[in-house]
Formats: sequence, structure tokens, C-alpha cells
Amino acid sequence: MDVSTSRSLYLRYMPTPVCERALQLSVFFLLLTSLLTACVTDRSDAGGDDLPDTSTDWSRDILHTSLNIDLETMTGIADLVLSGSLLSSAASFEIGDLTIINVVSDGDQLKFNAKLGQLDVGIPLSVGPQTITIEYYLNLHHNFDGILDSGVTFTWPYYCGNIFPCKSQPAEGSGFELVVSGIPDGDISIYPELITADAPSYMLAWAVGDYDYSMLGITANGTEVGVYYFPDEAEKALNGTRYLRDVFDWYEQTYGDYLFGEKVASVSVKWPAGGFGGLEHHPFWHIAGESLNNPVVHAHEASHGWFGNGVRIGCWEDFVLSEGIASYLAARALNEVAGEEYGNQIWQSYENRLDLLQNSNENKIAWPEGCNEIDILEDGLYGAAPYMKGAFFFKHLEYKLGKEVLDRLLRNFFSVNSGHAVNMQMLITAIKEGSTYDPTACAQAWLRMESIVDTDACIY
Ligand SMILES: [Zn+2]
Repeated sequence: MDVSTSRSLYLRYMPTPVCERALQLSVFFLLLTSLLTACVTDRSDAGGDDLPDTSTDWSRDILHTSLNIDLETMTGIADLVLSGSLLSSAASFEIGDLTIINVVSDGDQLKFNAKLGQLDVGIPLSVGPQTITIEYYLNLHHNFDGILDSGVTFTWPYYCGNIFPCKSQPAEGSGFELVVSGIPDGDISIYPELITADAPSYMLAWAVGDYDYSMLGITANGTEVGVYYFPDEAEKALNGTRYLRDVFDWYEQTYGDYLFGEKVASVSVKWPAGGFGGLEHHPFWHIAGESLNNPVVHAHEASHGWFGNGVRIGCWEDFVLSEGIASYLAARALNEVAGEEYGNQIWQSYENRLDLLQNSNENKIAWPEGCNEIDILEDGLYGAAPYMKGAFFFKHLEYKLGKEVLDRLLRNFFSVNSGHAVNMQMLITAIKEGSTYDPTACAQAWLRMESIVDTDACIY
């Protein structure tokens, strides 16, 4: 994630009453919703008496999410594979402003209750995994919070519920399948058809447009690396991705095999005004048109295939483990493949961003205490502190350990934890136990505190 927008554009999700939304939908949809009482979908009396009643259970693990989205009718069908349970007969999901039509499993219509952005489903007890099928209607969104008018999705950090029943907490990992139909004539859709490794909900995305594609090359591991761009963007797309094949190859060779497919690409997207940077929607990560010319943004988003997605964060407070390391890796990889002069330029630009942070009123703590106690947008963690202070923390580790040892430790950490959620403390412990250097003092002074110029514990 390296999207920067006018902060005012980020409004925290406020569940919109289904009745209000219903007014905006098609006649057919109105007919349907008019049958529902109080504009809340309550099928808690559906199905046979032997099926469980609805209740709330946020702990049920989503193992796999298979989506079939029709953009012409704005309908979705979600097949969710849930872990089995002999203790709980319920599962709950975030559904934003989706309108739920039906929930079915094994031919039975399950009891469900959908209101205020939450779907509760009664699930029969089972030892093995259960698949439930949820049919629903979707809405377009305009504020970096769902399917945007320009044909691109935006789910980060917690807007997946406006597109599919999900859990947005970063530790929740799922495999994904996706089919997007109803594409306008002349456009193509870009999305992964299958992701087998567990990934956070905000990783899944699509983009629709009249894209051109350029293949940039094949890595030593056989991964095709390319770029999708709009017809008038060829020059800046190809300039911005001139190192991308080599950068991706360097990540694969240095940190381990890529988890999310055999073809990857940067995808130019048209975000609302004020949006620039990128979003880590692997394997086809999104780059705002404003940033398409910048190799650092492409390298940053590509690195999230290893840290942020491949290994995902356990709590929003661990954001530095995704963004600090991605900022470091973009500079490091470009230093390796494009030369030290370019690497130094990138670090100088990071220094400048630290200076701006120092002289601002923004949050300066990169790694707050707690787990999912903050709202990452409202409470200011989404800002320069985790990105830039995080990058310099890893540069400090490079200085203390040497590149070879740091790379070995990161490779091991990725190998052990890929497909899983981790906390920043786990990485610090892994470095302490895998080397002769204990980074605790630097992490405390630099990441946990507001200090920016006092780097005695964190020289690089
Ligand atoms: Zn990022």
C-alpha cells in the first residue's frame, strides 16, 4: 500500500441503511427490496426447523472465497468455504452496503440476518469445512471505498464488505477465485482467476478498461512480468516499469518463490482526484496514473508479494511490517538492479519525507502498541511514520547485520511465515535469535517513540 490521497477523501465506513440504498437501484431491485420488511433482510425463519438460528460469530475462519461478479446486473455470488465447527452454529461477515438475497448450503436455504453492514448466518455443525453460497446485489462507490465509477475496485483497508462478504481484519487470510463478467464492449478486465495461498481480503481486486499490455520479460523462476496501461500512457508506463522485471527477479532470487501466480503486472488505474501511489493487489497490483512514471512505486507494490501479502500483518498496528519493509525493499532492489546512484536518490527522497514528517503535526509513531485497537485511517497510522521510519529501521538493520545476513533472515522469515499473519515483534525476535544483533533498543527508540532526529540507537 502506497496510496496517498487527500485525507478528506477518506471517510470512515458508515453503514448506509439498506432502505436508502435501495432507492438508488434498478426497478427490478426495488421490487425485490419492497418485499422486505423494514428494509432489513431478515431470513431468520427461513429453511427447515432443523437448521440453526442466526447468531453472531466472528471467529469462523474463511478458508476460501470464490466470487462471481456481474457488473452489468451488479450482482454477486460468493461461495465461501468455512472451517467446520462442532461448537458454533453461526458465522458473521462484513457486508457493507451489499443487499443479501439468499444464503444456501448443500441445497438448504440457511437462516440469515443482514443489517447495518453485518451478515449473520446459521450454519449446521460439522467436523469438516462447510461451503455456503451467498447471492447479493452490489452498489457503485465514489470515495475510495468499493467498486469505483472508473471500473476499478478499492478495498483497502476495510472496504471489502462493499464488494463481497468478508472479514477485513488483516490477519484473516483466504484463498480466492474470481470471475468478473458484464464488461463493456471494447474493455478488458484484469484480475486473478485463482489464488491458492492465503492472503488478506484487501489483496483481491479487479480493473476494467481499454487496456494495452506490454510484457516486460520472464524472470529466472519463469514468472511473466508485464504492465497494463491506457492507450495514451505507453511512454510513462514503460518508463516507470523499465526495471520491474529485474526487480521482481531480484525479489524471487533473494527472498523466495512468489506465491500468487505465474504472471504478474502493474496495472494503471484511474482513481478519484487526489489519488496517487499504488495498491498491493497481487498478482496485478494497481498503480495510479499519476505515479505510473515512477519506478519506486512499481518496485514498492511488487515487494508486497513477499511482505504485506505473502506474509501478512497480524494487526493494523503491525502496518510497519508491511509498509516499512516495502519502502526499504523498493530502495534496496532498485539499488541492486539500477545502481547505487539511483538507490542513493531514493534514500534522499525518503530523507526528505522524514524531514516533512518531523515538521508536521502528523502521527510520528510507526509501531503503536496493541492489536486492532486503532482505526488505521482515523487515528493517523496511515501516514509517513510507518513508511519512512520503517524504511530507515530496515536500513539500520542492513548497516548492523550486512546485506547478506539481513537477506538471509528475511528469506527465512518469509519461508517460515508465508501464507500466515505475523506481528512486528516476531520479526524482531527472529532477527535477535538469528544473528548477533538485538534490534530491540532501536525498534523501541525509533518505531515506538516519536523521535525522528535522535537516531543514536538506530544509526545507518
Ligand atoms: Zn505499500
